[in-house]
Order: sequence, then C-alpha cells, then structure tokens
Amino acid sequence: MEERTRVPFPEASDVWEARKRIAPYIRRTPLVFSHRLSEISGAEVYLKLENLQEVGAFKIRGAANRVLSLSEEERRRGVTTYSTGNHAQAVACISGRLGVRAVVCVSDRVPKAKLDAIRRWGAELRIAGSSQDDAEAECRRLSAAEGLVIVDPFDDPFVIAGQGTIGLELLEDLPDVDILLVPVSGGGLVSGIALAVKANRPGVPIVGLSMERGAVMHASLLAGRPVTLPESDTLADSLLGGIGAENRYTFELVKRHVERIVLLPEAAIARGMAFMLRRQGMAVEGAAATGPGALLSGAVSLPEGSKAAVVITGNNVDPDAFLKAVKSVRDE
Ligand SMILES: *Cc1c(COP(=O)(O)O)cnc(C)c1O
Repeated sequence: MEERTRVPFPEASDVWEARKRIAPYIRRTPLVFSHRLSEISGAEVYLKLENLQEVGAFKIRGAANRVLSLSEEERRRGVTTYSTGNHAQAVACISGRLGVRAVVCVSDRVPKAKLDAIRRWGAELRIAGSSQDDAEAECRRLSAAEGLVIVDPFDDPFVIAGQGTIGLELLEDLPDVDILLVPVSGGGLVSGIALAVKANRPGVPIVGLSMERGAVMHASLLAGRPVTLPESDTLADSLLGGIGAENRYTFELVKRHVERIVLLPEAAIARGMAFMLRRQGMAVEGAAATGPGALLSGAVSLPEGSKAAVVITGNNVDPDAFLKAVKSVRDE
C-alpha cells in the first residue's frame, strides 16, 4: 500500500508559489469578451481560453506544479499516473521537458488515438489488464516497486494550486468579476480557482458545471460523502470519472467554495460546442463547452449587467465525434 501521508490543505499562498514555479512552462492564456454570449445573457461574458495551452488543456498547470515540486531524488526515480485523458498528456509533456521518466498505466481498452497522444510527448506506456482499476493497481505496484511518484489528476495540493493559477490571471484581467462558471469533474480545477479568487473576493459566487449523467462530485455532495456512479456516454468525457472513496481535498474544498453544480443535458453541451466553433472560431471538447452551453440553454442565468468569466478548459476531442455534435445543432 502506498502510504497516505497527510499534506496540509492548499492555500492561496500555494497558488502564488505555483505561479512563479510554472510560469516558464505554461501559457498565460487570454480572457476574451464574447459579444454573442453577452447579448444572450444580458451580462458581460468573458471566456478564459485554456484550450490554447500547448497540450490543449489547463491540466499542464497542475501537472507542472507537481513535477517541479519533486525532490531531486524523486525526480531521478520518475513519475507515474493511471489517468488517460488530458492529465496523462500534461504529465507526459512536463516530464519530457524536464527529462523526468514518466510511465502512464493504461488498460487494453484505451483507444489508440489516446495512446498515440501520450506517446508523442515521450512517456512510457504500461498496458495492464482491461479495466481502469487494473491500470490503477499497476500504477500503485510500480510506485511501490520502483519508487515512481504517483501524480494524481486532481486530489493533490500541488495539482490544485497549479490549476488555481487560472484564478490569479482572471483577477488580473477582470478584477471586478462578479461570477465564475467552471466545469467540474474531480474538482481540482474549481478548488484551485476558488482558493485564488476567494482570497481576494470572498463573495464572488462560483458555479460548477457537469453533465447530467455521471456527475460524481454533484452526487457526492448530495450524499454527503464520496460516491461512485456508473459511467455513461457523454460529449463531456473529460468530466467522467470518480472523485476517489478516500478523497482528501477536493470534496471538502468544493463543498466549502462552490455555490452549486448545474447539470447539463447532452443537447446543451452540443450547443456549446457548435457555438464555440461557429461564433468564436474554435474547436473545443464537450467538457469545455459546458459554460457556453449553460448560458445558451438558459440552465444558468446571470445577474443583469454582471461580469462573468467562463473557463474554456480544453480541446482534446475526436474530430468525427466533434463534427457529429456540431452538425446536430441548427445555427442560431
Ligand atoms: C480535467 C478536465 C476538467 C475537469 O477538471 P477537474 O479538476 O477534474 O474538475 C474539465 N475540462 C477538461 C477539458 C479537463 O481535461
């Protein structure tokens, strides 16, 4: 068993430290005004474009902060993870740049396109079993046997602080922001942003966004403890996955800081994707389109004249699935 040493809860000061640490390895992304979304919602709506990160998603911030915080000895041994999406690419990317060995454990069910994307950044792939649980078991075995450090996709203070650097940039660009819309899966992103923003502007509400089916954080908040849900097909596949039965940080931080989590039907997510392509000229994945989808469908309404920031999280989407989703939506 990996020993679960307890690290203190991350704080706003950790986000400031993360910012200095990761600055050379990430892009400071633009915050752009959206005319159409502003018109529709009667507010001023700004989009934080994390789809413009080199790996195509904000996850590079947290992964970079974690890997850059390793001790010399840990760096020599290397890192491992069992998450396959944007997090795996981010871990592979930063490790490759720093010359740190990275092993991504996957099951034999992970599609080839995802494996290629991870390999392209120079990470080793370890194929173990045929389920996500098998991949996780292999990851823990590797960590115990070879001393590789497991980089958790969300429930880690360094990862949370890294994602929080988005909040610092938002406050610089829009100091009088009134409300934030942030996609939620494991909750690392929204927890980090909340730490950064609430330290300066404690009253700013943060609205979480998930898909209707398989929103584990939302179900866990309702149950008062981490629960599991069956995975269903969704356009927002980056929002699937559990929060961990032994969740140490994000469940508590989301409970403390997120005003509510709004669940979106698939049609609203598709609408968000079509909007981002047709009106903003950008192809983004379903998870990243939840903010625009929530405003277009009316699932979230904004106070009249308020300033809202919407985090556009990533662009890792299969082109066929993307086009199918966009074509399902009539122009508006
Ligand atoms: C990981 C991810 C999310 C959710 O982040 P959490 O920290 O797990 O809540 C949202 N969008 C994209 C594109 C992601 O890769």
